[in-house]
Amino acid sequence: MSRIFSGIQPSGALHIGNYLGAVKNWADLQHKYESFFCIVDYHAITVPYDPDDLRARTTDMALSLLAAGLDPAKCTLFVQSAVPEHTELAWIFNTLTPLGELERQTQFKEKASKEESVPAGLLNYPVLQAADILLYRAELVPVGEDQVQHLELSREISRKWNARFSPAKVFFPEPKPLLTPTRRVMGLDGQAKMSKSLGNTVELLEDPVSIWEKLKPAVTDPKRVRRTDPGTPEVCNIYHLHKAFSPPATVEHVAVQCRTAGWGCIDCKKVLHESMERELAPIRARAKEIAGNPAKMKKDLAAGAEHARSIASETMGEVKKKMGLT
Ligand code: SF4
Repeated sequence: MSRIFSGIQPSGALHIGNYLGAVKNWADLQHKYESFFCIVDYHAITVPYDPDDLRARTTDMALSLLAAGLDPAKCTLFVQSAVPEHTELAWIFNTLTPLGELERQTQFKEKASKEESVPAGLLNYPVLQAADILLYRAELVPVGEDQVQHLELSREISRKWNARFSPAKVFFPEPKPLLTPTRRVMGLDGQAKMSKSLGNTVELLEDPVSIWEKLKPAVTDPKRVRRTDPGTPEVCNIYHLHKAFSPPATVEHVAVQCRTAGWGCIDCKKVLHESMERELAPIRARAKEIAGNPAKMKKDLAAGAEHARSIASETMGEVKKKMGLT
């Protein structure tokens, strides 16, 4: 069985953009691959943060992931800082990675342009990412097409390390993208990708009344000014949410009703709300159950970290031996 690795920032509870874009897919993949899913808190400290807040966000993320369907009996779910080998391998990879390569990374340029003083951790972020993946010698990384280039540096580091320290036998695989049907979910403002910082999200565990209050004013096709104006579903974010949550027959019905002005946008949103409830209500119920037994969640994460460490320390043992380190 091939091994996959994927990480997620401890940004607190998941929103439906994270869920539809990545985590729902992870819940399927855990049945097909030996899966490692990591809450990457070392990555989260490259920007200013509050320690208590980080702790809370990490716990909320773990709870959301479990509620969304990650099963500790099927996958290895753990928090990055519980496995210190991540940073140990990152240091080693830092010694092989050209500075220019890191300075060229688009994400670094974007983030650094907003900071007065740029921490080295922000620059070295992709090296830690390479260490995250290669520590488990993962062969595949689930990504959407837009993220394929992010993997290239990990592949290059793997090639470089193998050529230098293990030329006779490939030690680190070159991790390949596992192209998966990820969705780019727009925020309810219909302007930009769903993101907590933009305040345009629906939380995965949000209660139905609050979701409806957000759906009601959500942006739709701007050409449907009056109830009688026909619309174009493809330009409407509500239609795309239907495609994510509603059965195919309903999606087809939505398109027809929209194009013929058979119903108004509020009717359409009511149907979407029902579809969302069918999927989200069981997730909320699971979250409630998990939150009611924090000791169990702690135990699951500790077991995940222990398993991850057993593989990580094996990798580091080999790496050190090949590099002449003790
Ligand atoms: S009817 Fe539905 S799909 Fe059409 S514009 Fe309104 S909300 Fe969007």
